[in-house]
Amino acid sequence: MKIDRKSPITKEYDVVVIGSGLAGMTAANKLGKDGKQVLLLESHFKLGGYATWFHRKGQKHVFDVSLHGFPVGMIKTCKKYWNKDIASSIFQLKNIRYVNPQFDITTDFTKENFTSILIDKFKIDADHAQKFFTRLENMNFYDDKDLTIGELFESFFPEREDIKRLLLEPITYANGSTLEDPAIAYGIVFSNFFNKGVYTFEGGTDILIGKMEEELIKNGVDIKLSAKVDKIIIDDGKTTAVVINGEHVKTASVLSNSNLLGTIFDLTGEKHFSEEFVKKAKDVRINTSSCQVYMGIKDGETIPEIGDLVFYSEADLFNTDKILSKEVTSQTFSVYYPHIRPARKGKYTIVASSNARYEDWENLTKEEYKQRKEYLIETALLALEKLIPGVRDKIDYLEAASPKTFKRYTGHWKGSSFGTKFEGLDVSMNLHKELPGLFHAGSVGIIMSGWLGAANYGVIQAHAINEYLDS
Ligand SMILES: Cc1cc2nc3c(=O)[nH]c(=O)nc-3n(C[C@H](O)[C@H](O)[C@H](O)COP(=O)(O)OP(=O)(O)OC[C@H]3O[C@@H](n4cnc5c(N)ncnc54)[C@H](O)[C@@H]3O)c2cc1C
Repeated sequence: MKIDRKSPITKEYDVVVIGSGLAGMTAANKLGKDGKQVLLLESHFKLGGYATWFHRKGQKHVFDVSLHGFPVGMIKTCKKYWNKDIASSIFQLKNIRYVNPQFDITTDFTKENFTSILIDKFKIDADHAQKFFTRLENMNFYDDKDLTIGELFESFFPEREDIKRLLLEPITYANGSTLEDPAIAYGIVFSNFFNKGVYTFEGGTDILIGKMEEELIKNGVDIKLSAKVDKIIIDDGKTTAVVINGEHVKTASVLSNSNLLGTIFDLTGEKHFSEEFVKKAKDVRINTSSCQVYMGIKDGETIPEIGDLVFYSEADLFNTDKILSKEVTSQTFSVYYPHIRPARKGKYTIVASSNARYEDWENLTKEEYKQRKEYLIETALLALEKLIPGVRDKIDYLEAASPKTFKRYTGHWKGSSFGTKFEGLDVSMNLHKELPGLFHAGSVGIIMSGWLGAANYGVIQAHAINEYLDS
């Protein structure tokens, strides 16, 4: 049932889920299906978290924010924890392209295709390429926990800056991973993505989230939008309620899909945790944020196929600092051709994304902020014109988003696009051991973030909540 935003909440619940990102929604859906009394609270006026979209010029343009590509595993997750209809709308993006001063290649992002590219274009011996992929697939936490991505690359492809770019650039674009990050997390993400390609959802994010909302209601989940939780109540060391606008909602457990550090320090309060846990939590690093430029193509105009996802860079060499820098030299273009949204016949949109640091935007004056957004838009247009000459004249809507935009809409500390770095996972998974009844699910580490990682983490935590409630 959907609870009107002005109506009070009168029931007591088994679980209150704070936040409707893919982790929160997937957990709520599983718990609802399992027969638990679930309330899903979302501070925004729509479900989805970063899995979101918005309309401009009335309904003329619809822009997807984070629907750029996810691993094939999403099909299985949706089939098992949502429904067959949702799973059957997922399809593969075949043309993933890199354009940079070192190479211009198109790949379907499968392991087979990457192996051929390493052999044919980068002149790597077939056996050696195979050994690299086998090494990635067989990485394990105990043997490889101290190895960095840079060390891994150097051991297989010494001084091959071009190969490092091929292997890491897409992941750096997405979540700001650097050569100093752990190789194990990279190995897991890389093996997932490069095994069977990159996938998307036919119809767009609005259709997906609409179908998820229907399924949640079918499974008995109560949903309240525009409902920002201010506090999680702990009595005698146990989670007992949440507070929204001064109203207490009683519950036997809470699953927070809010930012991990926000959950601990803002919603709960550090006095409820052990000193050791607080110290660990304070050491958790936040991931970087994003900038985006949304471009709407005029009605009746067409654009040529330039690739579904284009990793475009003007930097001579791959350099993570440059990718994260406010001087944008690298961006990813997601091109939404009409077949991605068949219901909106003949419509094209393009979204340019770049990784960004919150600190570079935090203290700008109003005028500086406006100018920086104009710079973002112009940089995106200049780059896109090199891929599609004359495209500027075909665009009738332009808008930019900054790390501050992402923070405003989701409450993520520093507008982080992919939650926390990998050390956040340990803190997130142990939350309920510190405070019985309090669980967290959401982007922590690159394994548990992104569309698939978040949804799967929601399932893992739903199992833990079932165990807690049933014990
Ligand atoms: C620009 C961008 C591009 C991306 N591209 C991709 C991509 O191509 N592929 C991919 O796999 N992933 C991508 N991601 C990452 C992916 O979208 C996220 O990792 C994933 O959606 C996060 O899901 P989540 O469950 O952690 O919750 P989030 O999406 O972070 O949602 C958390 C929700 O909790 C709500 N909330 C927070 N605090 C409260 C409160 N106190 N009370 C009530 N509600 C609250 C927020 O409003 C929000 O709706 C991208 C992210 C960004 C920002």
